[in-house]
Amino acid sequence: MTELQLKDIYKKFGSKVVVNKLNLTVESGEMLCLLGPSGCGKSTTLSMIAGMQTPTSGSIMLEDKELTKVAPHKRDVGLVFQNYALFPHLSVFDNVAFGLRRHGVPKSEIGDRVRASLASVQLAEFEDRFPAQLSGGQQQRVALARTLVLKPKLVLFDEPLSNLDAKLRQALGIEIRLLQKEYKFTGVFVTHDQEEAMLLGDRIAVMNGGNIVQLGTPKEVYKKPVDPFVANFIGESN
Ligand code: ADP
Ligand code: MG
Repeated sequence: MTELQLKDIYKKFGSKVVVNKLNLTVESGEMLCLLGPSGCGKSTTLSMIAGMQTPTSGSIMLEDKELTKVAPHKRDVGLVFQNYALFPHLSVFDNVAFGLRRHGVPKSEIGDRVRASLASVQLAEFEDRFPAQLSGGQQQRVALARTLVLKPKLVLFDEPLSNLDAKLRQALGIEIRLLQKEYKFTGVFVTHDQEEAMLLGDRIAVMNGGNIVQLGTPKEVYKKPVDPFVANFIGESN
């Protein structure tokens, strides 16, 4: 079943075309990796799905809802950034509770929901800490808990592992896939790292110059790159 559909998305900043007639369908429950070099328009694409940017033209459907007509916080879309973006002055508990409070979730439910989501990212013991008292990997886990506690249909990941060292990157990547099974969200995972895309993606959309140049399973993209760009970027010759 189709969860997310981007149709003829076009985005200009001034006269510069950054996303150029992009079409993409993401299936319910899958993890789609959007893979491409720096500057190809990955973050801009996620920003339009999340509502921080408006497409110049085109439509974005989440199930049967036209997202471009829905306010960002009502889109049922979660976002996990590279730089965690936690509130430094709030405890781990309050960082995770923030969205629930904003959505008017009753106080009686908040404690249980925050603790359950912190437990699912192995941070049950850390609720009273502040972000500065956590490692990078732990901060990213808090950011995951803060997103997942809202039980979004769709979670967008913008290079969430890029600030972490190689070993942690792989461990947390695998953890994100396990969390996807537990929370049953559909994922779009942006990365410029081909190994990460191969490891995490059910499918990979290779992006270049504001457009998707190939879409397929990791194996298809790796074994049968459609052009020299993809071959260079991901294929066996790389
Ligand atoms: P990626 O995430 O793939 O590295 P981005 O989507 O961040 O790429 O950026 C794509 C292009 O759009 C880049 O050339 C970038 O400089 C430009 N860009 C991104 N955001 C803005 C903005 N708010 N104003 C002007 N140009 C922008
Ligand atoms: Mg980016």
